[in-house]
Formats: sequence, structure tokens, C-alpha cells
Amino acid sequence: MTGPAPAPRYQLRLAHLYPDVMNIYGDRGNVLALRYRCQVRGIELKVTDVNVGDPFDPAAFDLVLMGGGQDREQRRIAEDLVAKGPAIRAAVDDGLPALVVCGGFQLWGHRYVDHEGGVIPGISVFDLETRHPGPRADRCIGDVVLSTGAGDVVGFENHGGRTYLGPGQEPFGRVRRGFGNNAEDGTEGARRGNAIGTYLHGSLLPKNPAITDELLLAALRRRYGADVELPPLDDAAEQAAHRSAEAIAARRSRGAD
Ligand code: GLN
Repeated sequence: MTGPAPAPRYQLRLAHLYPDVMNIYGDRGNVLALRYRCQVRGIELKVTDVNVGDPFDPAAFDLVLMGGGQDREQRRIAEDLVAKGPAIRAAVDDGLPALVVCGGFQLWGHRYVDHEGGVIPGISVFDLETRHPGPRADRCIGDVVLSTGAGDVVGFENHGGRTYLGPGQEPFGRVRRGFGNNAEDGTEGARRGNAIGTYLHGSLLPKNPAITDELLLAALRRRYGADVELPPLDDAAEQAAHRSAEAIAARRSRGAD
């Protein structure tokens, strides 16, 4: 008779913000990627959905995710997110790893002026502002390749808003193919500590295992100490998906190189 399975050595607590509202273009796939890369390493990942009106103490979590949404969805959750903002900012300043995508990314800045000129308040984790140029403007749509500190990153963008970083705000990456934050200055996304904001759907993490592992390692070391290491995994499938997305983006007419 076999005994109970040994308790996993490491456990991580993931807060998924507004999963039913802010989940456009399959951003939920980011949770699946984190769960898979924990599971195969014997790390227990506990996912908690945080919806409008739910209590949320970011200090009780090791990772936060938030997906994208159209202007209407952003308006639906903005007031609740603003109420949660001060605690989120404090946790990010304490090194909390986070990944926020597109509409979620925009609301982790100061504000988003939507396609009707309405102002949706953000939580100022990132020093940035987003402005939609109006309903007649083209949307920024297509496959993207970035150069980032973690290597090339691929994904898919579909946003009307144009994001402008404050003077000291670090971008997530530089655009090689695609529009990025505003189709003008070559920046994409934003970083503050271990928090990453980006326009890249795809979803992002299944095609970019280095980013998935960067978030996981930051969470593990923040909770269990700096000497934690992540054993490498066979990334053949992820790298094949990465190369495929990169090839599609390379066919885009627009891009820096
Ligand atoms: N509604 C925002 C925009 O159009 C974000 C869209 C999204 O999350 N894909 O810019």
C-alpha cells in the first residue's frame, strides 16, 4: 500500500484578476502555461479568481495575472480595480511578480481615455497613460516580435489605445515587428520590478517560456529565498510555437528591421 504523495516542496499562490471579464483573445492561456510549468516541476500552483467585489490582499499572493478586454469591459471593472490599487502598488514595490495584458495593462497606468473620450481611471503601477485616437482610427492589429531583456518575445496585438510612457518608465521591450505601445516610439509594454505590462495576447506565455519561468522564479525566490533554482524543461513545443509566430510576424510589412 503506497503512502500519501509527498507534499510538494514549493507552493505558489496566483491571483487571477477578473478572469471572466478580462479574458479577451484567450489570455487565460497564461494561467495554463504557468500551471503546466509548475506541475512538471512538482510545484503546487493555487489559482484564486478575484472578481469585482471580492476581497483581495495582494500580500497573500505570489503572482498576479490580468488579461485584456474591450473598453466596455474595462469600464465594468475599473472602479473595483482602483479600490484595490494602493495594495497592488505596495505589493509590486515589494517585488510581487505580475503579468497584465492589453486592457489590463492600460489600467495599471494612470488612466485610459477610451474611444469616446471617456476617462477610465487606472492604478498607476506604471507611469504611463493611454489614449484612444477615436473610433475612426485604425486599430493596432497583428503579430509582434519584441527585443526584451529576456530575449525575443512574440505575441499578437489588437488594441485601439495608444500608450505613452512617462520619462523614467521602463518598457517591456522594443518593437522589431508590429506597432507596440503607440506605433511611434518603438516601445512595447512596461516593467516595474517584477511586474510586466504588455499588449501581447497570443496568449503570451505558452509561446515565450523564458517569460513564464522568469515570473515563476521571481515568485519562488521572493517566497522561499534567493537560492531557489528552476530546473530547465524540454521546451521543444514552446520553441516551435515561438518560431512559427516569429515567421508570421516577419511577413508583416511594418517593423524596425
Ligand atoms: N480596449 C482597449 C483598446 O482597444 C484594450 C483592448 C484589448 O484588451 N485587446 O485599446
